[in-house]
Amino acid sequence: MKAMGVALAALAVALPVAAQEKPVVLRVSTMLDGRGHAVKDQRITVEGGKITAVEGKAGGATSGAVYDLRGLTVLPGWIDGHVHPTYHFGPDGRAEDKTETPQQAAYAAAANVWITLLAGFTTIQSVGSPDDKPLRDAINSGALPGPRILTSLEPFFSTKPTPEELRAAVRQRKADGADLIKIFASKSIREGGGQTMSDEQLAALCGEAKVQGLRTLVHAHSSQSIQAAVRAGCSQIEHGVFATDEDLRLMAERGVYFDPQAGLVFHNYFDNKARFLGIGNYNEEGFAAMEKAVPLAIDVVRRAWRTPNLKMVFGTDAVAGAHGHNAEEFIYRVRDAGQGAMDAMVSANSLGAQAMGLGDRIGAIAVGMDADIIALDGNPLEDITAVRHVVFVMKGGKIYKNEATSHSGK
Ligand SMILES: [Zn+2]
Repeated sequence: MKAMGVALAALAVALPVAAQEKPVVLRVSTMLDGRGHAVKDQRITVEGGKITAVEGKAGGATSGAVYDLRGLTVLPGWIDGHVHPTYHFGPDGRAEDKTETPQQAAYAAAANVWITLLAGFTTIQSVGSPDDKPLRDAINSGALPGPRILTSLEPFFSTKPTPEELRAAVRQRKADGADLIKIFASKSIREGGGQTMSDEQLAALCGEAKVQGLRTLVHAHSSQSIQAAVRAGCSQIEHGVFATDEDLRLMAERGVYFDPQAGLVFHNYFDNKARFLGIGNYNEEGFAAMEKAVPLAIDVVRRAWRTPNLKMVFGTDAVAGAHGHNAEEFIYRVRDAGQGAMDAMVSANSLGAQAMGLGDRIGAIAVGMDADIIALDGNPLEDITAVRHVVFVMKGGKIYKNEATSHSGK
């Protein structure tokens, strides 16, 4: 058995290399590089899951397969910094189905990540659930198709623990395999969004996470909770519906990332109201609060992109019903909140990668980066609804979707 184990281990290491031994060339007429540049007429060479060359017309490897993506817009796979990949509607159609089996829940999560990948999202950050861990590990091992997942595992909600207990819990989360720490510093928007965690608790959580080399994403709606999280040294603020101009400037000054939502999360709740109503704070009062939040959310995104040096990343807060529709958030941002389309793309490419500490691996089409590449039928710089038409998806050099291209070679 031991010898077999060794042989299998060797095989596992050798396989990805064997699968990628021939280069793949993508012929491209319009490319967004993920860093804010639009480039014409390129040949992208992919080998061993990485981008090995990006050259003008005459370039590119001479052997291997050639995919003709001319006429499309080619860009790095998108990064969604705030997703709940395990959230789904149960067999009875409701967001919480107590008759559901763990097997049904697991398949639903697998379906969520599959449609998310097909929608052009090659990396997502889950914030979070303990159920993410086997999902993340199955995808990252190549066993299951889906976006690369980073997860916080169980978020920090409770205001009961002492700062010392919270520090210990952060260390435990790291030992359990969390990629980041998620904290609730305020109530839900359905309950007014006021601060919950004390300043001391936030300082303990974000301070210990920093010591452990983990980023901290903080759910915060009220101005007070945003300021408390920023002053506690946390890495990123989520939502921020009630953020003032002063809060936005403070985030910019301290280099804190901001991840507001302009529409998808709210409209998904409204479209699926009957499936949520009656569960926890999904009551009529909660829905009324969300209706009121819509114009505020658009306004905060509009003020955020206008705030000098504020790093506004892309995160949809996709829950049950929204998976695979993540790109709709780009449309709310550009059409309703007035953000430039190129800026919106960069927020989900190089800026999103940088916020995750993966800026040297993903989020750009450049030599040495992971080959996470998508193509749209249409140009989002001319018409933002092109983000709905993802026709080609490559992640780590492997093609998962190819609906509009001809290809030649072997
Ligand atoms: Zn969320």
